[in-house]
Amino acid sequence: MTGRWLAATVVGGALLAVAIALALDHAFVLYMENQARTRLAARAHGALGLAEGRIDQASNALIVLASAGVDSCGPKALETMRIAVFESTPLKELSVLDEQGRALCTHVGTLVDTYAVSREYSLPGERIALATARFRDFNDRALRVRLERPSGRSIAALVAIDALLPEVDFEQGAGGKRMRLMFASGETIAARPTGDEGMSLDGSSSLSVRKSSDRFPIEVIAEQSRTALAGEYRDLQFFVRFSAMIALTLGAGLIWMALRRGHDDPAAELRRALHAGEIIPYYQPTVDTRSGRIRGAEVLARWRRRDGSIVSPAHFIPLAEQSGLIFDLTLILMRRAREEMGAAYRQRPQLRLAFNLFAGHLADAKIVDDVKNLFDGSSISTNQIVLEVTERAPLPDLDEARRVIELLQTIGVKVAIDDVGTGHGGLSYLLKLGVDMIKIDKMFIDAIGTERYSLTIIETLVELGRTMKMEVIAEGVETFAQLEYLRLKGVLSAQGYVFAPPVPAAAYLALIEAMEPASAGGLPTLTAASAA
Ligand code: C2E
Ligand code: CA
Ligand code: CA
Repeated sequence: MTGRWLAATVVGGALLAVAIALALDHAFVLYMENQARTRLAARAHGALGLAEGRIDQASNALIVLASAGVDSCGPKALETMRIAVFESTPLKELSVLDEQGRALCTHVGTLVDTYAVSREYSLPGERIALATARFRDFNDRALRVRLERPSGRSIAALVAIDALLPEVDFEQGAGGKRMRLMFASGETIAARPTGDEGMSLDGSSSLSVRKSSDRFPIEVIAEQSRTALAGEYRDLQFFVRFSAMIALTLGAGLIWMALRRGHDDPAAELRRALHAGEIIPYYQPTVDTRSGRIRGAEVLARWRRRDGSIVSPAHFIPLAEQSGLIFDLTLILMRRAREEMGAAYRQRPQLRLAFNLFAGHLADAKIVDDVKNLFDGSSISTNQIVLEVTERAPLPDLDEARRVIELLQTIGVKVAIDDVGTGHGGLSYLLKLGVDMIKIDKMFIDAIGTERYSLTIIETLVELGRTMKMEVIAEGVETFAQLEYLRLKGVLSAQGYVFAPPVPAAAYLALIEAMEPASAGGLPTLTAASAA
């Protein structure tokens, strides 16, 4: 499950990374095209201004000629025209046309019909008309501006194509850029690169910007191919992609580390296990050394993993204590044991159920409320509850511990000191705490039959128990010889593999069903009901 989750996270992360990379790339293309469009618009605007200026120059020259009375091919008119062409560079030719538009003469006096004229576009409200002129003899074109005279004749000026569009940037298709000046009808007047009248203006492969004149029926289209644009931005795009890759790699690394950390955090894993119900109680019976009857059980925590394996408390109790999870863990075990043992214990009020506490549990009285809430009025009476406090770890505040123990005793709970003989507490510790039971550590039981010193300790503890009215329980009893010795020395209760290891609830229940029939003095029971 965790592996699958991890895989899903990795795949999800990779998809997200790709999506971010694509989005960044897309954003970059948008940025690049936006920049290019702005530049194209500026170019188109400039070019349109130039073309308008040329048309103005030509029409001004024509108006000057008209006011000078030029509408014939007389020597004076020719002279005036020659001067006008000479003074205005973009003017290629001036001519006088008859009423049908046929050329009568040019400024140099030569004859006629050197070019063909396209359709004319007249300016509204003025007597000016624009057209393209195509020379017959050589392959060239010009813009013709014609002014009609009141006589019906007109004078016409040819503006050189080269003068109509700016040179810079658009010559030779530099950077895939092209430009075209045309009539609003779509007919081309001039183009850059020169001769490139048939530019594609295909929106998918190029960017184009169109500007129309407010004053004349002309417009300019500036265009750049997307391939050329990408080429222009190649370095920057590489840089953006490279930075995005680095950022993504870093981000992915950080996410991965965070995931690993979550994965490797044992406290988080224990918390999860706790709330997933993986921490369960096992029960180890305590037995009367003389009668062999079961006196109750000690609840020992087990971690039943999802694969069914059982983890011993040595592997997680220390972590639970350090992380503070031990408080939850203890309550969860108590609640679960109450559910599992309630029915059987209600019928057997003599049976006891012991739970292990840690030193922190005696730092304040919260445990008293917890135990009261859990067991008061439940199937298991507080009189059946034993709480074991280990001597291995020192208690933080002995006076407070004493007070909490007293409070527990007033609600009927018995308190035991666990692992007696192993800690630094010593006898005074035992006496000061005023507990009800002492559990002799397995270490001393193991020494039975081997070491004299341990035997003295067992005898001392039994004697102490007798005088202080504390029950003595021997822990970790593994052999009959040990059991026999303890019985002779007056140890009344024992716990150990010689009777049973810690077992799951079902096994412990089966054991007490077999060995401890429900007591007649109990509450109305199943046994009583079936006997009736
Ligand atoms: P403990 O309270 O001294 O529990 C007795 C330990 O001795 C248990 O180990 C039990 O399985 C083991 N034992 C019992 N009889 C024999 C025997 O004949 N031979 C041998 N070799 N071992 C025997 P376990 O269950 O592994 O628990 C270890 C310790 O973990 C416990 O020692 C206790 O200190 C702690 N612990 C277990 N459950 C809890 C809990 O719910 N809360 C707290 N605070 N500590 C717990
Ligand atoms: Ca114990
Ligand atoms: Ca112990």
